[in-house]
Amino acid sequence: MLSRAGQSILRQARTQLRSQAGPTPTQSWVTWAVTAAQKLGGSITAFIAGSNIKSVAEEAAKVAGIEKIIAVDNAAYDKGLPENYAPLLVDNINKGGFTHIIAGHTAFGKNLMPRVAALLDVQQVSDITGIENENTFVRPIYAGNAIATVESSDKIKIITIRGTAFAAAAARETEWVSEDLAKSDRPDLATAGRVVSGGRGLRSKEEFDRTMLPLADALGAAIGASRAAVDSGYADNSLQVGQTGKVVAPQLYLCAGISGAIQHLAGMKDSKVIAAINKDADAPIFQIADVGLVGDLFDKVPELTEKLKK
Ligand SMILES: Cc1cc2nc3c(=O)[nH]c(=O)nc-3n(C[C@H](O)[C@H](O)[C@H](O)COP(=O)(O)OP(=O)(O)OC[C@H]3O[C@@H](n4cnc5c(N)ncnc54)[C@H](O)[C@@H]3O)c2cc1C
Repeated sequence: MLSRAGQSILRQARTQLRSQAGPTPTQSWVTWAVTAAQKLGGSITAFIAGSNIKSVAEEAAKVAGIEKIIAVDNAAYDKGLPENYAPLLVDNINKGGFTHIIAGHTAFGKNLMPRVAALLDVQQVSDITGIENENTFVRPIYAGNAIATVESSDKIKIITIRGTAFAAAAARETEWVSEDLAKSDRPDLATAGRVVSGGRGLRSKEEFDRTMLPLADALGAAIGASRAAVDSGYADNSLQVGQTGKVVAPQLYLCAGISGAIQHLAGMKDSKVIAAINKDADAPIFQIADVGLVGDLFDKVPELTEKLKK
């Protein structure tokens, strides 16, 4: 490991590569972080800590662009508790002379990285969507309504990235073995190509499940929800899309019973195609939807699901 500028380290929790990203590292935020790190130049090192991490390290090694992996096998880091993890990471940053430390802007990254920055006495740069050079970064502010370009004069840059803003790095072709088709779970919300999202208009958890899950199944889509739906207990907290939830940018974002509040739009407005079903023709969601259907979702969603199945 060299201490020249552009040297980056990607922090990786074993739980993220495994449970959140599924079996292929090409779907993980790590691959986006690699793309971001490549814009900086220099060599890229992945950092993994936890117990039984050999297989995770092997998976990370399949991501093209990662040159070196630091793996710390110790159960103390399993849950990624920042009180344990941050000093370990800082120790490795100092030892390796790393200049840029990148983590996903996930709950894990948001929990850990500010503590790392504080220990190093530097300012964190959060949720970046672009890299202009090794000191200058682009990040959305005011719930995505303004884009700030910020320059950091800190010696070490602690960065969290908005994964959807960066293309995924390729897997090393030589490492590809086979495709695991034994998938029973839905796609991960943050990385899914299609997302089906429900809001307060669904009225109850039972109706949410009865109406939205078959549609998601018919499309092979991940499930998302508005904050109103999450707060009302219709959907799990981890499925919230928006300013205080997950930021997604799938090929298709299909939502039903969501009004389109600015805080919700902050999490999905970069989707390639936005489709909305709402009984209120004046709902703000129609202002950004590419395809809009005014109607009762309890009629329209099952109808659409049936048509998709054919
Ligand atoms: C600091 C802060 C952070 C926030 N963060 C988030 C966030 O991350 N994500 C988020 O989503 N929100 C967030 N919010 C909340 C946000 O402001 C809205 O309250 C929320 O998005 C509304 O959710 P909704 O669209 O499901 O509900 P509503 O605004 O109540 O909209 C329900 C919609 O369903 C339609 N509808 C009702 N019945 C039917 C039917 N039978 N058929 C068709 N349509 C129907 C209605 O016409 C209406 O448009 C945040 C708010 C604050 C203040």
